[in-house]
Amino acid sequence: MALLDVENLRMYYEIMRGEVKAVDNVSFQVDTKESLGLAGESGCGKTSAALSILKLLPWNGKIVGGAIRLGGEDIVKMKDSEFRNKIRWKRISMIFQGAMNALHPTYTVGHQITEAILKHEVVSKREANERATKLIELVGMESERVKRYPHELSGGMKQRAVTAMALACNPDLVIADEPTTALDVIVQAQVLKVMKELKSRLDISMIVISHDLSLISEICDKSAIMYAGRIAEYGDVVHIYKEALHPYTEKLITAFPSVIGPKTELSSIPGFPPDLLRPPPGCRFHPRCPYAMEICCKKEPSLMEVESKDHFVACHLHGGEKK
Ligand code: SF4
Repeated sequence: MALLDVENLRMYYEIMRGEVKAVDNVSFQVDTKESLGLAGESGCGKTSAALSILKLLPWNGKIVGGAIRLGGEDIVKMKDSEFRNKIRWKRISMIFQGAMNALHPTYTVGHQITEAILKHEVVSKREANERATKLIELVGMESERVKRYPHELSGGMKQRAVTAMALACNPDLVIADEPTTALDVIVQAQVLKVMKELKSRLDISMIVISHDLSLISEICDKSAIMYAGRIAEYGDVVHIYKEALHPYTEKLITAFPSVIGPKTELSSIPGFPPDLLRPPPGCRFHPRCPYAMEICCKKEPSLMEVESKDHFVACHLHGGEKK
């Protein structure tokens, strides 16, 4: 049984003009000690899927269908109070986007980590302080940094501090939302190294949300490429990046420079992701797809297993229907 099994998840936002289908029939699994990368452009539903798993949706966001099973138990059906006491922080925690804003400016980072431990576990303050110091060391900072305020830390250190905070209660699953965005490339490399070390040293599973495919290919075992609230391609990270089948994945890969591959011209994807209030009929990528066929505007492709085991793609080019 997978640690996390998301099945046919649908999450919509109610706005004045109607329902925004931010996550529309999305399924994926994360096994114990496995890491999944959720990739795609902004507005494709990656963060909304993650916030659904943590039940941290804004007032106008609602899970309208599907299941999110953690160790077999459907957390969608769980009462908020039960979820807060049993799951959030203890079993699933999150490294939020933008470490600069995720820390309270008037408390030391040690205080903030200790607070998370004391809030969710029955331990003495001394024990919580000791654990906070160990966590700070675990993410590669000197122990004395626990006494520092966020403004006394660099961007990379703040990112490490929020990572330490996410690990405060020894969760089974950590969701990292754009962990390297807004950091310069040197600091990105340091954060990436810390995440890789944590993955190999701790028995945790991870969901890494990023538009940076190179980050996902470095630290994830498998990947789900999201487009317009749906999964376009899903499978083993090596298969996806070496033999991308969906035209959207192909375009995303060529939009990023490769350090080890031959020099190629970067290409951008023409157009924008669709308005999810009124997504286009058929394949949602068809207005931007260079291979679009007649059937693509009429019939939505299903996510189907292709070629190798555990590689799925939603595209008529690989689903047997071409016209
Ligand atoms: Fe392109 Fe058609 Fe495949 Fe959609 S289904 S990605 S429009 S070829």
